[in-house]
Amino acid sequence: MSGAETPAIAAIGIVGGGQLALMLAEAAAQQGVELHVQTPSTDDPATGLATAVVMADLADADATRRLGAGCRAISFENEWLDLEALAPLAAEGLMFRPSLAALEPLVNKRRQRELLERLHLPSPRWWPLDQLQGRLALDPAASAGDGAPADGSTSEAAIAVNPMASLGYPLMAKAATGGYDGKGTVLIPDQPALEALLERVEPADWILEEFVDFDQEFALVACRDGSGEVGWFPLACTHQHQQVCDWVFAPAQVEHAVEALARNVAASILASLDYVGVLSIEFFYGSGGLLVNELAPRTHNSGHYTIEACAASQFDQQVRIVSGAPLASTDLLVPGALMVNLLGLGQSGGQEAERLAALSQLSGSHVHWYGKRESRPWRKLGHLTVLLESNNPPDLEQEAARRLAEIRAIWPLPSAPAP
Ligand code: ADP
Repeated sequence: MSGAETPAIAAIGIVGGGQLALMLAEAAAQQGVELHVQTPSTDDPATGLATAVVMADLADADATRRLGAGCRAISFENEWLDLEALAPLAAEGLMFRPSLAALEPLVNKRRQRELLERLHLPSPRWWPLDQLQGRLALDPAASAGDGAPADGSTSEAAIAVNPMASLGYPLMAKAATGGYDGKGTVLIPDQPALEALLERVEPADWILEEFVDFDQEFALVACRDGSGEVGWFPLACTHQHQQVCDWVFAPAQVEHAVEALARNVAASILASLDYVGVLSIEFFYGSGGLLVNELAPRTHNSGHYTIEACAASQFDQQVRIVSGAPLASTDLLVPGALMVNLLGLGQSGGQEAERLAALSQLSGSHVHWYGKRESRPWRKLGHLTVLLESNNPPDLEQEAARRLAEIRAIWPLPSAPAP
């Protein structure tokens, strides 16, 4: 444990008032730390528990200045930030945790990919969309025609003209900023779809990457305190349905070397950015090994299970770090945990109160309801964590599968396609 830095003011500020801010406020209340939020609506989940609320748009930097006035440091619930607008506040002495400099490579998916390249960390092959404009003359499919190698592979000449020829279709196109839950992520099956995308979007704001045929998705929540001490929660296995997180199971049943690589990836990023705070990393895992998909400079849906399953949760750690305290233990206290998201069911749903009552009756279950005013289909309305008991790994996975079936029988996934 690192040396304690005594907090001068036991108050921290969070820009955002959603479920992450709500769970930070719960952790702060337990630690006796005041938590102030900046959020545009009194109905937002965190407003009821926050010690003070600055009612303002999240992008309102003057409001963030006011938020910071009573706080030791400021942190964010969301990474799509206007760092230029915040820079004067840092110059005036307002402390951001993580710092604006550490956030700079993380607030944009293109910059994230550049950071991963600089650090030689494994990630999908990618290309900035604007560098492709005017270079699509050679269709990757067509490159198998005249002049292509007889074995059907893509010729070097083809790749030189059109770098996408080395990737082939399908591809994934991603908006560099503003995406979440698959919004801003588009599957590109062929060249006409790519040309249509180029017409439709501002290419400088998009990247293209290879479609990864992964077997599993993993997520790791890591943290680093003000003295440079690093902690990692157990690697978790995540499952997405229509690109929205459906459930998370921890600890992921992988070889030690895979988890060690994930921890090394996190430590490299944290140390190279002198990052202070909680950082979440999403991975693809399959025949190509472990590849970093996305970085989130904050607490994350994949770490909600830590509230009940670990000695200190991801929210406890973030509150500690932002208020100047050292990290606490990230140890898993139970054999395993399953976290299931409760997504808005729309008109096909209804009976939320009855469903919630039934979920809370399940053994070892902990229901979190975010109290959102509007229950749109696919919106994350709450989650449920069940603590697992099997000590033998194959039994643990079977137990998780049984529990998931039980939960989904009460609260199914939305039937309509994700918006
Ligand atoms: P978001 O920021 O919206 O969460 P992600 O990049 O995490 O976007 O993508 C959402 C989901 O889409 C991922 O969890 C994964 O299931 C799928 N996905 C994203 N990128 C790729 C890819 N390159 N290849 C295959 N599937 C992908």
